[in-house]
Amino acid sequence: AASTWANVPQGPPVRITEAFKADKFPQKINLGVGAYRDDQGKPYVLPSVLKAESKVIAALMNKEYAGITGVPEFTKAAAVLAYGADSTALDRLAITQSISGTGALRIGGAFLARFFPGAKTIYIPQPSWANHAAVFKDAGLTVEKYAYYNKDTIGLDFDGMLADIKAAPSGSAFLFHACAHNPTGVDPTPDQWRQIEAAVKAKGHFSFFDMAYQGFASGNIHQDAFAVRHFVAQGHNVALAQSFAKNMGLYGERIGAFSLVCADKAEQKRVDSQVKIIVRPLYSNPPIHGARIASAILNTPALYDEWLLEVKEMADRIITMRAALKEGLEKLGSKHDWSHITSQIGMFAYTGLTPEQMDQLAKEHSVYATRDGRISVAGITSENVGRLAEAIFKVKG
Ligand code: PMP
Repeated sequence: AASTWANVPQGPPVRITEAFKADKFPQKINLGVGAYRDDQGKPYVLPSVLKAESKVIAALMNKEYAGITGVPEFTKAAAVLAYGADSTALDRLAITQSISGTGALRIGGAFLARFFPGAKTIYIPQPSWANHAAVFKDAGLTVEKYAYYNKDTIGLDFDGMLADIKAAPSGSAFLFHACAHNPTGVDPTPDQWRQIEAAVKAKGHFSFFDMAYQGFASGNIHQDAFAVRHFVAQGHNVALAQSFAKNMGLYGERIGAFSLVCADKAEQKRVDSQVKIIVRPLYSNPPIHGARIASAILNTPALYDEWLLEVKEMADRIITMRAALKEGLEKLGSKHDWSHITSQIGMFAYTGLTPEQMDQLAKEHSVYATRDGRISVAGITSENVGRLAEAIFKVKG
C-alpha cells in the first residue's frame, strides 16, 4: 500500500552551511552565520550571562510551570528595557514572554489575524528578514511589501518608503525593524523616523516593531530603542517583538517578549486575556530557564551594568570589523565607494555584490554567504579580514 505521506513534496533546503562544511580549505570564511562570533571566530557566552546563570542555579528554584505569559519578573524588566523606565506605556502594556523574537512575531501575527480591524494584511519592508513573510502568513495574515532598499545607493529608499506608507489604505498594519535592519543593515536616521512617524500617523496606520537587536546595533540600548520610544511618545499604541538572542547571546534559550501598548487598563485586561487564549493551544506556557537568566541580568544592578558593557563590546567589535573591511578594500586600490559598509549598522552588511559575484566568492575564495550579497560581519575577524578584502577586491574590483 502507498505510504500515507507519499504525496509530501520535497521542500527546498533551509540552510546554506552545507557548502561551507564540505569545503576543505583551512582558511575558509563563513559569513552566513546569524550569530555573534568573537575575534577568534568562536561562539561567545557573555560573562554576565554565566554569572546570572550561576545565580539562578545556586538559588535552587523548582521547575514548576510558569504562567501562560511567562516569568513576570522577566517580562516586567523586558518592558522597561524596551520602552524606557519612565514610559507612560508601562502601566497599560499587555506583555507575554515568547519563544524568542520569532515566537513574539508569531503571537503578534495571530493577534492581528484575529482582532485587527479591516484587512488582515501586514506591510513588511522589501527586503526583510526572510522569516517575516513566512511567520505572518502562517499566522493567517496577508503579506504586502513596502519600498525600503535602494540598490543603486545601497541605502534607504526613503522617498519610496514614505510613498508606500501614504499609498496604503488608511488604518493598515506596518512592520518596522526597530534597529539594525536585517538583511540590509540600513536604518532610517532619527530625523527620517520622525517623518515616518508623521506619515504613519497621518494615515492612521498601526505599527508593529520587531526589535531583535536592542543594544547590539549601536552599543547603546536607548539609542537602538529610539524609533519604538518615539512612536509611543507620539501616541502610537504599538506592538513590539523583543528578542534576547543577540543582545544577551541567549540564542538557543529562546527568550523574548511580545507586547501591545493599550489605550488604558481596561483594554489591557481584555487584550491580555486574548493573548493567553492564543498562547495556550500553541505551547501552554514558555520555558523558564532563559527567562530566569535574563531576569537576573535585568533586575540585578551589578549584572545589568556588566551586561551593558558586554553588549557594547560586541557592537564595537562589529563596527571595528566594518571599518577594517572598508579600509582593506581601499588599500587594495578599489575604486568603488564602500562607505555603505561603515554607515550600515548591526550584524549584517549588504555588500552590493551580485548573486554571480557571491558564487564566485564561494567557488574561488572559499568565502560563503547568502547570494543576495549579505555578509554577516560577526563572521569577520582581525585575522581573516585581510583575506576577505582581497577576495572581494578580486571579484568586484
Ligand atoms: N527579527 C529579525 C529581524 C531577526 O534578524 C531575527 C533573528 N535572526 C529575529 C527576528 C528572531 O530571532 P529569534 O527568534 O532567534 O529571537
